[in-house]
Amino acid sequence: MNPRLRQVKSDFPIFSAKPGLVYLDSAATSQMPRQILETISNFDALERASVHRGVYPEAEAATERFEAARASVALFIGAASSEIVFTSGTTDSLHLAAQMTAARIFEGDAIVVTAMEHHSALVPWTVIARERGAVLRTIPVDHEGRLDMSTLPMLIDERTKVVVVTAASNVLGTVNPVSEIVRAAKAVGAATIVDAAQYVSHLSLRVSDWGADFVALSGHKMYGPTGIGVLYIRQTLVDDLVPVRLGGGTIDDLQGTELVLRPAPWKFEAGTPHIAGALGLAAAIDYLQSLDMAALARHEEELTRQLIVGLLSLDDVRLFGPTNLVDRVPVVSFALPDVHPHDLATLLGRQGIAVRAGHHCSLPLVRNLDPRGVVRVSLAAYSTENDIAMLLEGIENARKTLYG
Ligand code: PMP
Repeated sequence: MNPRLRQVKSDFPIFSAKPGLVYLDSAATSQMPRQILETISNFDALERASVHRGVYPEAEAATERFEAARASVALFIGAASSEIVFTSGTTDSLHLAAQMTAARIFEGDAIVVTAMEHHSALVPWTVIARERGAVLRTIPVDHEGRLDMSTLPMLIDERTKVVVVTAASNVLGTVNPVSEIVRAAKAVGAATIVDAAQYVSHLSLRVSDWGADFVALSGHKMYGPTGIGVLYIRQTLVDDLVPVRLGGGTIDDLQGTELVLRPAPWKFEAGTPHIAGALGLAAAIDYLQSLDMAALARHEEELTRQLIVGLLSLDDVRLFGPTNLVDRVPVVSFALPDVHPHDLATLLGRQGIAVRAGHHCSLPLVRNLDPRGVVRVSLAAYSTENDIAMLLEGIENARKTLYG
């Protein structure tokens, strides 16, 4: 293993404070390393001032750092700074994208989603479809937990106005063929929205490889703070899109009812932004790059292999999602016939093992896997072989507690 990755755990204060913690819920939120915590607290303690408003040195320095954070996000995903809009997270980003695109939906139109969308991507479009008399079409998942791409020609046609796809499933761990789906959508002139929340901390993301109109991500799933996220908006769209919210920071001129908006990305960022959050997100990007994304992907792949092999060795386990490691992130869900997922998560929690149980904000998908919900294990840079061994032992202990 890469020596840098071997020492990663010591970067995270929570693991020194709680040496027994086996944290296997990084898909919900990842832990934060010292470097990022310091960036955030230093700004708020020593450098705090608002951005884009004052002309005194602290305000100018804050503005400079905030815009530098935007430039680092842009560089990280291969975009231009004007294409990066800071939001409060993926949910906010997906809602902004939905609200700005809803106007193009009319009765009889089709909105295409995948069967593995998170509620934050799915529900806004469910509501828009209902309100506007459009149909919601779903790309199904096959027995392996991958999208059934053979259905694409039937689902994406000239009636399709929007296609929403998650780059990586928060339940199955599947990485989807985003470029292929975006290509099919573009061929019929549909707008494309990609949810990259579970993708961006594991695999390197180049927006140009996908060619989508919108890409959403959250800071807190990539070692950064909560309350900050990004909506990437493709350059060719930014001038024509009408912002959902207006206010401080978005206006160049206002006389009577005549309004001149600032250029993108600022016209999309009404109000005082989460400045420390943006700096923390930039620090998270530096941190991820210091780990070497390719080495990190190999580390997570090896641990995912061990996790899958280990879970499959348990009696009667049902594993959901691909069992091979191709196009996969380190998120693995399973169920046991004899233990309710919430009971298992509670009994694991009592042993210091943090996993998540339930429907994972993906009800339509998970209800089909197991109506009781599933247990999800998710890994990150600080995960170790020992974490997985503890989990497997913890599951056996839980069964003993329940059945003696
Ligand atoms: N999409 C996916 C795939 C997710 O896993 C999540 C978080 N569970 C979200 C969207 C929503 O992200 P946030 O809660 O950060 O807005």
